[in-house]
Parts: sequence; structure tokens; C-alpha cells
Amino acid sequence: MNSNSRLASLRKAIARTTREIFSLIDKRLSLVREVSEEKEKEDISVINRDVEAHLQNNVIEICSARDLDARFALRILNQLIQESVRVQMERNPVNSPPSVADIFSKARSMNNAGKHILHLEVGEPDFGPPNQARRRLMKALSRGDVGYTESQGILPLRRKIADAFNQRYSRQISADEVIVTAGGRLALFLAVSSVVQTGDEVIILEPSYPAYSRFVTEVGGRPVYLSTELEDSWEPEMSELEQQINPATKAIILNSPSNPTGKVLDESVFRRIVGLANDHDIFVLSDEVYSRFTQSHHTSILEHPNCRYVCVQSFSKTYGMTGFRLGFAISNIKTINMMAKLQGMLLTSVPEFVQYSGLGALDSEDEVKYNVEVIESRSKAMNGLLKELPVSFYPRDGGFYFFPRFQNEELDSVDFAEHLLEEKGVCIVPGTIYGRRYSSFFRIALCQEKQVLIEAVRRIGEMLG
Ligand code: PMP
Repeated sequence: MNSNSRLASLRKAIARTTREIFSLIDKRLSLVREVSEEKEKEDISVINRDVEAHLQNNVIEICSARDLDARFALRILNQLIQESVRVQMERNPVNSPPSVADIFSKARSMNNAGKHILHLEVGEPDFGPPNQARRRLMKALSRGDVGYTESQGILPLRRKIADAFNQRYSRQISADEVIVTAGGRLALFLAVSSVVQTGDEVIILEPSYPAYSRFVTEVGGRPVYLSTELEDSWEPEMSELEQQINPATKAIILNSPSNPTGKVLDESVFRRIVGLANDHDIFVLSDEVYSRFTQSHHTSILEHPNCRYVCVQSFSKTYGMTGFRLGFAISNIKTINMMAKLQGMLLTSVPEFVQYSGLGALDSEDEVKYNVEVIESRSKAMNGLLKELPVSFYPRDGGFYFFPRFQNEELDSVDFAEHLLEEKGVCIVPGTIYGRRYSSFFRIALCQEKQVLIEAVRRIGEMLG
């Protein structure tokens, strides 16, 4: 057989094998539909991690028997599982929880209709940008620094960020390991897009900031949830975490201090998670946008330079600069370059004058310290106020939020939020947004004057009867 005819027959064999694969996929999906019917009858949930783990173990066994790459095989299996989930959800759609935007817009339209609303929902600091940030912004504008910049961000700002963090954590981060982004949110998305490939699993500690799972799903990854409980002081269970790790696990997302729980991970817990990540070659995406709002020591991923990480930070919370859309990330040069390329594709760069305002913000330590004190003092007051209500709660270690649970577990957080807004003019965020199982929790932010917080909690108390 000459080379051309051999190639033709190999291609035919590949086409036949591909057809076989797809007829098997069709068969698998028919079985999935039957499974779905059975589950509906018994009201059994669509996702079952034990069943998935069994399938994954089968695939790992096949891979080791046949010398196949397990990570590749598991990524394919995850796509099959994702399609099964989609098919089942399509047959039996579950009401998706309302988004924060739905609640915000309802509160806003009530505001516009002239009703006075107490806003405990927004995690937007009321203290506004530091004077230095305003001054640098105005100076940049008057100097004409109003253009595009390099996608990674202007060098003086990246240098200054690197210097600040080197000083704080005794590191030697270079400006090349820093990217300036349009907010911490975009930094997170860029990080997830750069690290996660289709079919990869990403472990997310619940309750969690909703953007994490949306971003992972958006890039074709699979969010794997590790729930934490109020009874355990929101501490992750290490053995459960370890159980969730398999060769398809690409990253774990940490958020300490946490939105919404106010939990700061203990140094020892942080170290153990990093240890697991290192053992399994997993990225740690550490969202540290609330790191300054702590009284006790806050462990940063930057204290663990030997693991694969992206540290996400923002000017929004620390400096009260939410509307500036200014954030940044620190990681290895390769990941930073990937993130910069993507940011360049999406928006060329963060506006030049906004980046200059960041230089001013970084010179505003006194204002930051003052703001941290203000939040701490509100937090102390909130601790006292919540003790008088029929709720259980974790006494916040850091960040902006409290995440209490109704003692009446029949109460649903979405219904409660709607009634509270309509009847008492107080806006909060229902717990379901941070994970389905948290439907008897609600989140309140410390971003209002103490008097507003006192009045709002009084009304919440009235509502809870
Ligand atoms: N991470 C967490 C946990 C947040 O709560 C937020 C904002 N609420 C962000 C990231 C992003 O903030 P920004 O885009 O304003 O920097």
C-alpha cells in the first residue's frame, strides 16, 4: 500500500471511530433522559457528586490501563456530564434565584418613585475616594493623560503596586508580575479565562460571590462546590476538600475575608489549602479585595510564593473607588501576559487618567486606616444589634458583611427580601444568591452610617416579629 492510500484508509478509520463515538454519545443522552424521568418521579436532584465520582474513577482506571492522559479524559467526561445536566435541566427547569441586579433595580425604582429606602444591600463604601486619588485624577486630566495605555497598565502604577506589596509581604514582585485591570471583577474573569480550560473543574467554597461560578461556567469549566456551614464558623472541612480533588481539578477560588460571610481563613487553614493545591498542582485564585478590612492578621496568598496563584485586588473597597473600575492582579509573568492579552482584546486598556488616580490612592494610608476603623466600629454596633434579633450569625472577622440566618427556618430569604423592601423600605440580599442551600440567610453590608444601620435592623426586627 503506498503512503497516499494508507493515509486515506487511516482517515476512513478515524471517521468511522468518530461516528461510533457520536452514536455512543447519542445512546448516553437517551439513557440520561430516562434517568431524568426517574428522578422527576422521586424528586431527586439533578447533580450527584458521588455518581460523578464513580464515573471519574472508571475513567481514571481506563486511562491507567491504556496509557491515556487522565486529565484529558476527565475533561471530556466533564463535558459529557455537563451536557447531561443541561438536558436534565431543560426537561425540568429549576427557578433560577434572582440576581442581585433584580433586587437593586427594584430598590432603585422605589427610590425613583420617591420612597426612602435604607440600602443594606450594596457593598459600596460610602467614604468615597481619598483626596490624593482625586488630585491625581484631575492632574492627569489637565495634563492630557487621556489616552489608551499598554494593556497591562502603566508602568508607574504597576511598580508602585509591586513596591507596596513587596513591603507588606517581604516579597520581590516585579512590575511584570502585576496587571492593572478594569476592577477586581475583570481581574477575576481574566484569571479564570487564563487558567481554566473547557472541562476543567474549579473548586468554589460556598456561600460564595456569585461571579465565580458564572465565570467558570462561561469559559466552559465546571464549578465544584464545597459548602461551609455557620455551625462550623464557615471553616472548610479539609477532608471534604481533598475528596473533591481529581486530575481534572484546575483551580480553587478563595475569598478571605469572605463576601458574604465575613470569615477570614485562619493561617493554618490557608496553609493546608495551599499545601493541597501544591500537592495536586492546582492554581489558587485568591480574591483578596477585602483584605484591608480586618483587625486580626489576614493571610494572603502572597505569603505563599511557591504555589501557582493569582492574587486579585481592587481599589473599589480599600479606597472607596467602586466607580473608577480600577483593580489589579499579581501572578507569574506567563499568566499576567495571558490576562493582559485578553484585557487588550476586550477594552484595550483601563483609562489612563483612572490609572493615575490609583497612584494617588496608594499614597493615602491615613485615609485607609480611618475607613477601616469606621467599618470596624459599625461592625461592633451590628454585632450588638443582631444579638437582639431572632437570628444566628457569625461575628464577622473582616470585610463589609454580616450573613445572619433566620431562626425560623421556614422563612425563605427571597420572600423575606421582597416583603422587607416593600413593607419596611429596607433592602438586603437574599442568601440564595450565594448558594441554594443558604435560603434562610441574608446579607447586610456595613456601607451606611451607623444611624442608618440601627434603623434598618430595627425594621428587620419588626419584620421578623
Ligand atoms: N470580589 C468580591 C468578593 C466582591 O465582593 C467584589 C465586588 N462586590 C469584587 C470582587 C469586585 O469588585 P470590583 O470589580 O469593584 O473591584
